Amino acid sequence: GTLSIASILAEAARRSPERTALHFMDRTIAYGDLWDQTRAYAGALAARGVGRGSRVAMIVPNVPDFPRVYYAALALGAVVIPVHLLFKADEIAFVLTDAGADVVVVAAPMLAEALPAAARAGVPLLTVLAPEGLELGGVPVARLEAEAAAATPIARHTSVNPLDPATVLYTSGTTGTPKGAVGSHLAMIEQVHCSLIDSFDLRPEDVVYGGLPFFHSFGQMAVLNIAFRRRASIILLPKFDPDEALALLVRHKATVFTAVPTNFAGMIEAAKRSLDRPPLRFAVSGGAALPVALLESFEAVYGAQVHEGYGLTETSPSCTFNVTSEPIRPGTVGRPMWGVDVAVADPEIEDRIVLLPDPPPGGTGALGEIVVRGHNLMKGYLGRPDATAEAVVDGWFRTGDLGTVSDGDVVTIVDRKKDMIIRNGYNVYPSEVEAVLARHPGVSIAAVFGLPDDVHGQEVHAAVVPAGGHSVDEAELVAYMKEKVAAYKYPRVVHLVRSLPLGPSGKVLKRELVERFTRRSE
Ligand code: ATP
Repeated sequence: GTLSIASILAEAARRSPERTALHFMDRTIAYGDLWDQTRAYAGALAARGVGRGSRVAMIVPNVPDFPRVYYAALALGAVVIPVHLLFKADEIAFVLTDAGADVVVVAAPMLAEALPAAARAGVPLLTVLAPEGLELGGVPVARLEAEAAAATPIARHTSVNPLDPATVLYTSGTTGTPKGAVGSHLAMIEQVHCSLIDSFDLRPEDVVYGGLPFFHSFGQMAVLNIAFRRRASIILLPKFDPDEALALLVRHKATVFTAVPTNFAGMIEAAKRSLDRPPLRFAVSGGAALPVALLESFEAVYGAQVHEGYGLTETSPSCTFNVTSEPIRPGTVGRPMWGVDVAVADPEIEDRIVLLPDPPPGGTGALGEIVVRGHNLMKGYLGRPDATAEAVVDGWFRTGDLGTVSDGDVVTIVDRKKDMIIRNGYNVYPSEVEAVLARHPGVSIAAVFGLPDDVHGQEVHAAVVPAGGHSVDEAELVAYMKEKVAAYKYPRVVHLVRSLPLGPSGKVLKRELVERFTRRSE
């Protein structure tokens, strides 16, 4: 058989060529035009020898060239490797070599890091968005646009086997070297269809916020592929800024907002500076725990219910979701997607999967490590059978997250195993403490982390971004938390900060907080 992710754009263009696919700056791009441009890019890549099974790396932010390059490579049957936008030359070179890239397409702003990386890895580089005649270090840089103008566009996409790899997505590697999770066309299409059938009430008239980076699984699947499969429109925003995002959502009458929790906090603050509101129908949160207080504030301010889901790069990414057709269960990540099994395993036993007993009827099962199996699971880590064998045991994927299942199959994520703080022998789960902090009116968003401590082993610290329009000080927050949570849990030290260190997807980089405040206290 044949089944390609590229058909998502091809079919949208065939059925609705006039419909708007993208809003970007002051332009709109219709599906028909976007597919024509994509076919031209594919023609240029084919002229350079890219074909079925080739590996095309790309370093492109959320601009129209992302979908053009992405679907062009997929339409040729090539595997796409979208590279993390913050990667430095060494990290890019690692990925290009590790993935065996045949070519890398780089947006002009990323050239400074990408050029030396590509040279070192010996991978030919093509740019997009660069001025004509660009030379760097005396060497002319090849422009994909120019090669596309000279090439013959492909007529249609190449047939692929549904189980062929479609993407290699590198986990950001907070633990050791980055690993490339290989996703098949089948896993990705299944994910898109199961999401659209069961999870999202997404309609062709919808206008979807497109600020989650597409190089990451969440933005790529839950925004780009899902919206295009439904022939909805996407508002592209290359870099998240809450005031700009609000203005764009209003201007384009956005109906769906899909984001990570820190974006929700930013949007709540932006709404204090502007009276305009977009006509949102609903919002989707994922990627990190959404404090219930944020979910409630967002709903109060924007009049849109937030539906939280849970997933990982390795699982395409969605595993569970609070579906839009049912009342949400705040504080939980909802039920498993169709065809996805979620269970709880003994976190101490590493070489086997020992499932904990199912929850009693109407009750909550024991806390353990969340494990997942189903059509959404990656094929494995590229070139790393050992790492794959460690992560996938008896067909179950170990997520590294601790959680519970209740009421049959409702999943609650407690925290990442590796973020757990142990103070005086007691386990402290930062997410829980963050959710309580978020209830304080003076708090926009908080991140809780542990620092080494001679007396207690680890001490609980919180970095807090104050909410606009409130004054709050550190001692007040410590006292507030002392009232609200058990003595071993409350943060002894609160650091007020202007902003939290965020990755490009908007997730809090806890490791950087630990480093920053360890240095400060030395
Ligand atoms: P790394 O690369 O170090 O594995 P990452 O954050 O880049 O980290 P992702 O695949 O992007 O990896 O994120 C998956 C993780 O995000 C999950 O394992 C979980 O810890 C967290 N996560 C995702 N959704 C939720 C949610 N709704 N609630 C709590 N945590 C979540």
